[in-house]
Amino acid sequence: MAYNIYLADRAPQGSEIPSDVRQSTLTTLQTWFTEISNMAINGMSSPPFSGGACVIRINSPPSIQPFELLIFFVLNPRYSIVNHLPHSGHNRRTAAGFTGWNDQFTCSEVYIDHGIQTLAQVAFHEAMHNKTHYGDRALHSRDGLAQSATPGASPSDNNEQLMAQFLTNQRPQWLAGFNY
Ligand SMILES: [Zn+2]
Repeated sequence: MAYNIYLADRAPQGSEIPSDVRQSTLTTLQTWFTEISNMAINGMSSPPFSGGACVIRINSPPSIQPFELLIFFVLNPRYSIVNHLPHSGHNRRTAAGFTGWNDQFTCSEVYIDHGIQTLAQVAFHEAMHNKTHYGDRALHSRDGLAQSATPGASPSDNNEQLMAQFLTNQRPQWLAGFNY
């Protein structure tokens, strides 16, 4: 089994991500996470997945392992899913995306209206918050995609190492987010 990253496009009808952008976002994340997942299991005696990554577009709650990732794509903060996560005291928001968590669950979202040219970059940024539970101060002081997203940018070596280090942390994703 590969490491699965689920992308849930929750944009209202008529405001969906254009299909070519959706595909390139998926392909870009697939490339990055394949490399990172292989880094992550390198040296692990019993990795919880066999290697490689699989980025999958979904419309309903997936069958997801507690160490895997789910990223929602919503139109803008008015449609926030993370805002509904109960007791998410430690949450982080930028204009581009938002990640929150409580004692049980973690939830990340990317705002489509912020710019469709940086969806992969923002998704990766939120994925770093999601897996590390680093707040803004701890994450944004780093380089690469820990900072504001620019079109065409890739994770830095430091970003990849950080993500690889935390990739198999247990961060159950908030599947009840599909109700919003
Ligand atoms: Zn951030």
